[in-house]
Amino acid sequence: MTPKELGKQAVDALKSLYPEAFCALEYQNDPWKLLVMARLSAQCTDKRVNLVSRELFEALPDASAMAAAPVEQIEGLIRSCGLYRVKARDLRAMSEMLLTDFGGRVPDETEELLKLPGVGRKIANLLVGDLYGKPAVVTDTHCIRICGRLGFYPESLKDPLRVEKVLAEAIEPKEQSDFCHRIVQFGRDTCSARAPRCRECPLSSFCLHAETERKKGASPEKEEAGREKTSSKKGKSA
Ligand code: SF4
Repeated sequence: MTPKELGKQAVDALKSLYPEAFCALEYQNDPWKLLVMARLSAQCTDKRVNLVSRELFEALPDASAMAAAPVEQIEGLIRSCGLYRVKARDLRAMSEMLLTDFGGRVPDETEELLKLPGVGRKIANLLVGDLYGKPAVVTDTHCIRICGRLGFYPESLKDPLRVEKVLAEAIEPKEQSDFCHRIVQFGRDTCSARAPRCRECPLSSFCLHAETERKKGASPEKEEAGREKTSSKKGKSA
């Protein structure tokens, strides 16, 4: 199967599974809010970012307010997101640059977005895809893991830029942004890092990882045992 054929199969299967593709960050259609929330989401769950952002945006509702706020105030508002010192500094600096260099408008080009403090390719691509409907691959941890398992590239490949290049070729441009949203959901529901549910997975008929496991003779019991082990670890750490 060529990468493009695999891309089409994966896109179609995920579309059937999740007819609605959406960004889990509740940014209320405000580009600046998505920029801020995407920065907050590094090493933090979307759920927590949504929660913290409500209070943050009540206190600092736009780029002007954020740029004028003392960094200590921002730190206090986002503390529970982790890495709060560096994130607070970035939020302030990116808001300031947005006003001084971009007339307050969130840029629609990846290269322009990358000039903003704290913005890497993952955030830049999320923004151009979600806000401006442009082709963009967001290589988050779910995407990198699952597309490796599916066989787009070796599972050992973890470099986001190389993954982005492979997927940008394999996935039809107009599908890229939604594909990445769907794959995050799929990673949470079915193809988790520790215990993928291959037996019940609608992608298993063309997934290289599943095929390899079948050849190795992995039994359903082993899969089940893996899941039980994971749940018991979670239970202990809860
Ligand atoms: S078959 Fe297994 S490894 Fe492949 S995508 Fe589905 S859950 Fe993930």
